[in-house]
Amino acid sequence: MNVYDSEQIARGLKALRYNMTSSQEKADLIIVNTCAIREKAEQKVFSFLGRLAGLKRKKPDLIIGVGGCVAQQEGAKILQRVPHLDLVFGTNAIGRLPGIIETIESKKCRIVDVEMSEQIEELDFVTNEYHKGKVTNFVTIMQGCDNYCTYCVVPYVRGRETSRNPEKIINEISRLIESGAREVTLLGQNVNSYGKKEGLCTFPELLALVNGIDDLLRIRFTTSHPKDLSEDLILAFKELDKLCSHIHLPIQSGSNRVLKRMNRKYNRKLYLAKVDKLRNIYPDIAITSDIIVGFPGETRTDFEETLELIKEMEFDGLFAFKYSDRPNAAAALFPDKISEKEKKERLQQVLNLQDHFTTKKNKELVGSTQSILVEGLSKKQTKVDIQNSYKDVQWTGRTSTNKIVNFPQGDDAVSCDGIIIGRMVNVRIVKAFSHSLWGEPVSIEPISFGSRGEKNYVA
Ligand code: SAH
Ligand code: SF4
Repeated sequence: MNVYDSEQIARGLKALRYNMTSSQEKADLIIVNTCAIREKAEQKVFSFLGRLAGLKRKKPDLIIGVGGCVAQQEGAKILQRVPHLDLVFGTNAIGRLPGIIETIESKKCRIVDVEMSEQIEELDFVTNEYHKGKVTNFVTIMQGCDNYCTYCVVPYVRGRETSRNPEKIINEISRLIESGAREVTLLGQNVNSYGKKEGLCTFPELLALVNGIDDLLRIRFTTSHPKDLSEDLILAFKELDKLCSHIHLPIQSGSNRVLKRMNRKYNRKLYLAKVDKLRNIYPDIAITSDIIVGFPGETRTDFEETLELIKEMEFDGLFAFKYSDRPNAAAALFPDKISEKEKKERLQQVLNLQDHFTTKKNKELVGSTQSILVEGLSKKQTKVDIQNSYKDVQWTGRTSTNKIVNFPQGDDAVSCDGIIIGRMVNVRIVKAFSHSLWGEPVSIEPISFGSRGEKNYVA
């Protein structure tokens, strides 16, 4: 969501004729987009802002702004704490940002705008330049959250749950496709309640609409709250050909006692039953999850139940976090806080256990042929120095199950001798690592872009 917001900010700045630069020294404007989900993310914001003081001294006209959830949460207090800061803007102020920056440029004033609204402000920044050639893009379908999990800051910094109109979503995706997008990830804190409040279509209906967009190859979404995972959504994985076979389904804890105190509104049995249903209908589906360790009052027995659940579930991947108190979130006032040392140990245990399953799942793919959407050059391929052909160039992409695959272009198999970003390539997996796979290309899918005929694009 943060990445999506940064892209919206970049679009707005482009409309003001600000171009992106790779170095802080060259910048006339620095925007720090922040995350408040855990304490550590928030601490990083202040140390980063501190480091910008020297730049501002050298270049007094430099405008420095802070946006996002920490800005929403702290408001004007950040201006007091950071004297070289010009601007604080909240999560609902992105649409107003160009106007705010113009005011700062002309009046040399400091501005705080953390006003929240229940309406989604549709941004109409025309340029798509920021997205040009990006194969995979995020698209927000709803903002805010009404669930009030007791550890979570989101309802306080992102406001009430509000869904975007389906037409706006489809329009945005169509525009992204014109810029080279082939995959979208639809974003919401709880996508399953999409449209309910406003009486728009349901989330599976929205997925079906997106599935009908020409030239889009893949659809992903995140996040689905286990309590609201519906039969219709489970069936969508079978019915919609563009929907990738991966679901992120955060469990948070394996202990019913902890889940209740987290206000998650499901228990272990219900979660397992939903996963069973998913795996029965679609045995190849990849399931990933989130875990919080050291929630206040989490006993050793509660924690053991989480470890047991991880063993039982065999997730494809897991994000695990040490619990941290967040402002306004109910659990901040809960007794029996777990020590930092204990949280660290529990986190390490979870990560070690999951590593085993992630590697196991990756190894199971060795020998299979996977369809990969090519996203760009692999991390190792820092530059392309091509004399005669692209055959040694290393590309990166993902399987439908969201696993990273790196591979060389090869000479025979991928006969297209050129840039293959945005193409679907069938890759035979030959090696599995803990966080990626390595393969050999077998064949490339022909380009068959329906309505617009054949087109090439380059990143
Ligand atoms: N809406 C999503 C979660 C969004 S926040 C959902 O309900 O699943 C992403 C993840 O951050 C959460 O799943 C949780 O595991 C973690 N998280 C949120 N608040 C936290 C806190 N106070 N301490 C540690 N981890 C937290
Ligand atoms: Fe936070 Fe819970 Fe809402 Fe997710 S569902 S954003 S964890 S309050």
